[in-house]
Amino acid sequence: MFIEPEGWDTVEVYINGFSTSLPEEVQHDALRKVPGFEDARFFRPGYAVEYDYFPPTQLTHSLETKIVPRLFFAGQINGTTGYEEAACQGLMAGINAHLAVNGKEAFTLDRSQAYMGVLIDDLITKGTEEPYRMFTSRAEFRLTLRQDNADRRLTALGRQLGLIQDAQWARFEKKMADIDSAESWLAAQSVDPKDANAYLERMETAALKQRGPLAQLVSRPQLELEGILEHVAQQVPEHTEEVWEQVEIGLKYSGYIEKELEQVAKLKRLENLRIPSGFSFDTITALSMESRQKLQRIQPDTLGQASRISGVSPADIQILMVHLGR
Ligand SMILES: Cc1cc2nc3c(=O)[nH]c(=O)nc-3n(C[C@H](O)[C@H](O)[C@H](O)COP(=O)(O)OP(=O)(O)OC[C@H]3O[C@@H](n4cnc5c(N)ncnc54)[C@H](O)[C@@H]3O)c2cc1C
Repeated sequence: MFIEPEGWDTVEVYINGFSTSLPEEVQHDALRKVPGFEDARFFRPGYAVEYDYFPPTQLTHSLETKIVPRLFFAGQINGTTGYEEAACQGLMAGINAHLAVNGKEAFTLDRSQAYMGVLIDDLITKGTEEPYRMFTSRAEFRLTLRQDNADRRLTALGRQLGLIQDAQWARFEKKMADIDSAESWLAAQSVDPKDANAYLERMETAALKQRGPLAQLVSRPQLELEGILEHVAQQVPEHTEEVWEQVEIGLKYSGYIEKELEQVAKLKRLENLRIPSGFSFDTITALSMESRQKLQRIQPDTLGQASRISGVSPADIQILMVHLGR
């Protein structure tokens, strides 16, 4: 529990971690059982807001209901709670309603492209028993879904949809070109031990024995790109901080990022194996009963989505692959 003061001039504290909607007397008695709070007094009790929702497993990835074409659901009606959760679904449902009316293909994001993709995939694949919140821990590709690269992940997609105006697009293209140019510059630099070793020694990292690529220094945990550019590199080109940040992240974490990209590619292979709509899972007796029932109810679009339904085992996925002729 965190005891959070409500202000400088009040004795009121918020008991973070004690939130409950139990009856007032019960809350009162429970609070006074906490060591240190035996004499605590209440300003106001905790409360809960209850609301109904439609099980989100009845939706497709475009947030259209499976039963009523062109009816799209977004937000709390899908069992989520939170401003951002509601807003991102509203955006996706709005985009897709527009595309549907214009006879265009749905726009979806997968789990490696955006937290929005994780949220929608979780909801429609797993459903939810309690108000769903978008915790970062729900995403398996957290190295890819970074805040600093949201523009690199999504701006081009937004542009295709007509949601990115010319000025914003020009700014984005310039930033991408600058990152490319900064990366190429850095990749072409080498460094002489006599220019680097005094600084390396100060930073308590091993001295260079011979001339080598400057970029290799960036991967050393003791060093930051900013320091290397300032103390070791020569004739550094002018770029904004956010451009150098992308260059540095790309170099420092390249090993981990590459590993994750391999996992993303693996996911995409399963994700590309589409299941025909209306596929009848009930007839595949080799599947476990639980799998058959859940697959029939949720009607996943792809083998990737099927693999994320709780209770559907890797063995079930192998069986489905055989039935889909793979
Ligand atoms: C007290 C409280 C505090 C909260 N604090 C936070 C917080 O700090 N941070 C956070 O992220 N989230 C918070 N939330 C949750 C967040 O507010 C909601 O999850 C989010 O606003 C839901 O957005 P929504 O668009 O799905 O639904 P809503 O915002 O509920 O919008 C639904 C809209 O539909 C309208 N409507 C309903 N029926 C009809 C009808 N028949 N015809 C036409 N219109 C209709 C309603 O009037 C309403 O405007 C809080 C919620 C509450 C109640």
